[in-house]
Amino acid sequence: MNILFGNAIYPTPSPNTTPLNIQQDTIMPKIQKSHKSHYGVDESHRSHLVEAEASTYPLMTIKFKLTEKINYIKLNLMQRTKPYMIDWAITMNCNLNCQHCRGMTPDELSTEETLKVAQEIVELNPEWVIIEGGEPLMRDGIWEILKVLQELDINLITNGTLINSENIKQLKDLGIKVMISFDSPYPEVYERLRAGASFNEVLRNGEKLANQGILHSINFALSKYNYKDIPKMFSLTKSIGAEMINILGLKPCEKYQEQLLSKEEYKAAIISACESSKNGISFYFDEPFFHACLDEWNIKLPQLSTGTTVQKESKILTPATTSCIFGEYIFIEPNGEIKPCTFAPYVLGNAKEGVIKVWESMKKSEFLSKIKKPETRTGACKICKHLDKCRGCRSRTYALTNDWFASDPACPLSKNG
Ligand code: SF4
Ligand code: SF4
Repeated sequence: MNILFGNAIYPTPSPNTTPLNIQQDTIMPKIQKSHKSHYGVDESHRSHLVEAEASTYPLMTIKFKLTEKINYIKLNLMQRTKPYMIDWAITMNCNLNCQHCRGMTPDELSTEETLKVAQEIVELNPEWVIIEGGEPLMRDGIWEILKVLQELDINLITNGTLINSENIKQLKDLGIKVMISFDSPYPEVYERLRAGASFNEVLRNGEKLANQGILHSINFALSKYNYKDIPKMFSLTKSIGAEMINILGLKPCEKYQEQLLSKEEYKAAIISACESSKNGISFYFDEPFFHACLDEWNIKLPQLSTGTTVQKESKILTPATTSCIFGEYIFIEPNGEIKPCTFAPYVLGNAKEGVIKVWESMKKSEFLSKIKKPETRTGACKICKHLDKCRGCRSRTYALTNDWFASDPACPLSKNG
């Protein structure tokens, strides 16, 4: 699953575009399931069994709430009546000029419109709401909007530059948890990537949030240029006082192919995260094939036997799946456009016409219904034994292959993508 965090991290390929190869309203062809008896993976990766030595990483922990939510998806995937999550890029405005900004829509909803959207979100009652941007603290009316949403489970993603004692108090009073984006543990690299931000200032702001108990996690967007920094990012997360780091696999953005990790680099990143978690920091590896890789490489992680049981004694928890949730959640652009995934170049409607209305139409969409069925995949994914718990990233696959149903080309387990 992609939790799709990103404070202006990822460019979305041209909003308003509808993919050419979606055949809406076509009858889905009957495809035989064959993945159960076939690995469909590059057997050479099994050599890692030797390297990994059936390692156990007891400190890889994930917050229970997250685990519950992810298991909830698994159990309810096909009969979902409400979105698992709503990810709302609430403003196009930002005070930074980041190299890897996903780019914003040219306009945004009025405060009045956002308040209506917020009320509809409350009515939809998703498991989880992410408020991001742009920089959400620059949004006109942000406190009114958050007040409407406060009964829900809210995470706010900020670049961390505008945090002060006043807004820390407001966030705390509203019960909102904060995520700060850090793309490098090195000040000079961070400041080059995030033009306009001061590494030390954001670090201090993160510490202030942590001291007040509202710093949920650090978001780290993986690229070819920083995947070797994972151990240092775990140390940085610990020194700031956050309990968790979200390692976000790169999704379609500007210069995407240049920055995307190779299969071998993905493998190194996954192993590195497991190793680094020995410092006590929880992590969420936001790639649908994460668990498949652990299985193939025989990396044993503590698992909950069910999604509803907490192993209180050990506090060791891991999510059961990181499966793709394309179409199981709603992404709202600053101008109200609604998409089935933060990175999908596919607009389903506009929040101005009603978020609930668009969600209802999503439930009836033949395209979404088809993409949610793992057996519609082709290539390596179709014959992969991990298909049910992975599904491959649909938006990335489309960006790289122009085919929504192809195998995920970034998967470290597939030979040819
Ligand atoms: S397509 Fe799936 S895995 Fe990829 S970003 Fe969207 S929800 Fe996440
Ligand atoms: S991306 Fe496809 S091939 Fe790779 S683990 Fe997932 S389902 Fe299997």
